[in-house]
Amino acid sequence: MRYVVSACLAGHFCRYDGRSHPCALVIRLVQSKLAVPLCPECLGGLETPRIPCECRDGRVISRDGRDMTEFFAHGAAVSLELAKKEGCRAAILKSRSPSCGFGLIYDGSFRGTLCRGEGVWAALLRRAGFALFSEENLPEGM
Ligand code: SF4
Repeated sequence: MRYVVSACLAGHFCRYDGRSHPCALVIRLVQSKLAVPLCPECLGGLETPRIPCECRDGRVISRDGRDMTEFFAHGAAVSLELAKKEGCRAAILKSRSPSCGFGLIYDGSFRGTLCRGEGVWAALLRRAGFALFSEENLPEGM
């Protein structure tokens, strides 16, 4: 099984705040060439660091009120195609992100409140048939 993984879990400094969120298992998978790290927000043309965004009413809104949906949608589509081209069929994604989160994500209020939902890239991956895992719910047996 080859995984596509959120690049910040692989130690890339691509988070909105310029930091990473390293996960030892994900880093090992990448080193073993069993995982491909991608950041859909970077691939969508957003800079690092960048203003935080959250999903609200089917759109992606920045903390200063701009509609960033097109950047997120473009980055998610590019990232899905790259993942397919690399032969990935499963994903390990950073939880709660407006791109990579699934299950629970921030609710768009920028108050740290969670709600049920999925990020833009996670939704595309799921619809394309990828098995989804997160750093808080890693594949069994790893
Ligand atoms: S978009 Fe995904 S890969 Fe990129 S920094 Fe956010 S959580 Fe990490």
